Amino acid sequence: MRNILRVWSVFFLIGFAVAAHGEGNRLIPLHEAASRLEAAIFYDPFSGSVLLSKNGHQASFCIGDPLVLLDYTFAELLDPPVRNNRGVFLSASFMNRLETFFATLPPPVAYRVGAVLIDPGHGGKDPGASGKAVYKGKTVTVREKDIVLEVALDLHEKMKQTWPDKQILLTRTGDTYPSLEERVEMANSVKLAPHEAVLYISIHANAAFNKKSSGFEVWYLTPDYRRTVIDKTDDTSSEILPILNSMMEEEFTTESILIAKSIMDGLDEQIGSQSINRGLKEESWFVVRNARMPSVLVELGFVSNPEEAALLADSSYLKRCSTGIYNGIRSFISYFEGSRGFTVE
Ligand SMILES: [Zn+2]
Repeated sequence: MRNILRVWSVFFLIGFAVAAHGEGNRLIPLHEAASRLEAAIFYDPFSGSVLLSKNGHQASFCIGDPLVLLDYTFAELLDPPVRNNRGVFLSASFMNRLETFFATLPPPVAYRVGAVLIDPGHGGKDPGASGKAVYKGKTVTVREKDIVLEVALDLHEKMKQTWPDKQILLTRTGDTYPSLEERVEMANSVKLAPHEAVLYISIHANAAFNKKSSGFEVWYLTPDYRRTVIDKTDDTSSEILPILNSMMEEEFTTESILIAKSIMDGLDEQIGSQSINRGLKEESWFVVRNARMPSVLVELGFVSNPEEAALLADSSYLKRCSTGIYNGIRSFISYFEGSRGFTVE
């Protein structure tokens, strides 16, 4: 009897060891991780950046990058998330750390969007891009400064009606030319209550030498330099510290990606059947780089393409553009303000 018990306990121990070993090395699919954590997930395949968010708390990281930023305040080095043809995967120890982080959270601080600054590009002496189109049988000149203003004014109207309690602002309301520095200054001097954020939405139209180029795209601030700096470091904390400092200045990158993705989806729904979705782009545009807030730049389409210029000459098409941007901002705000009705993957 005693021997049999011993045999069984050996089997039990082996079974336990195998199970523990299996869980220890098992890679956890990102979607499974998010549902186990009950966190909203954002994954941008273009940049490889991932955001998990729960009750106003965030864990953000990039595929292949050991650095994980918790609430934009604490950084830790974990096993780099991997991507293969079956998806994105986290190690078990990475998952354990996320579980501890989200389980030991203090009560969330309620943030809200207090202001949105809409920036129609160019204006006045600066027409921006221009192109020719045949519209209702006539040849017309389509100027970037005019179409982006029309979209911005309509977007402003829609947003004011939805959010009478938020400051909905414009960098220009007519054919004037505020300099880039003045626009950034307007953005940074918006008065906010505690725990309020301001969003910066810059609207432009494109031109290219190739008259066939067409489509809409949304830009956000590039997180690239932080990845290249990390690649060069050893594990020494003295080398990592300056990077963490620079990352704190980048705390709005993830929100910028979220708004960009959300606006992209909104535009796709409205004009995707008539124009090409060129996807999210990352770049350090001057206006976006210097605005210390979540900020994106929307390119509505190419005025250098005669067919797309004809669309952009049409007020009803521009209305659909502003509706798309509006729907995207609305999704983002409902996510940001915690209703969590917004999940992108
Ligand atoms: Zn422009």
